[in-house]
Amino acid sequence: MEIKYCWRCKMEVPMLNNEEYAIASKLYSKGLKVLKKNRQEHFKEVLDYYNDLTGFGETQPNAIMHHALEYIGPDCECCGKPYRTPKAILCVACGNKRITAK
Ligand SMILES: [Zn+2]
Ligand SMILES: [Zn+2]
Repeated sequence: MEIKYCWRCKMEVPMLNNEEYAIASKLYSKGLKVLKKNRQEHFKEVLDYYNDLTGFGETQPNAIMHHALEYIGPDCECCGKPYRTPKAILCVACGNKRITAK
């Protein structure tokens, strides 16, 4: 888990690494199958997992599903915010052109 700026949430959030994300998405799909009246209850397991791990207090299971380190790029050399995608060549925050290792 690493704290990174999320372009969709427009704030810094805990992003999960591959291992953590695999567990979270498993719990999430489990939540989709459970029939409960309350939406919050559906995803209690994934929310608990994420919040225990991060101490964050997330309430939106959907948000967790895009908080994976593999979905974003490395930090910009110029402003430190992550590139929006792993393949992005331009930083949308500061306009820096990414130095890509060839
Ligand atoms: Zn987000
Ligand atoms: Zn930048």
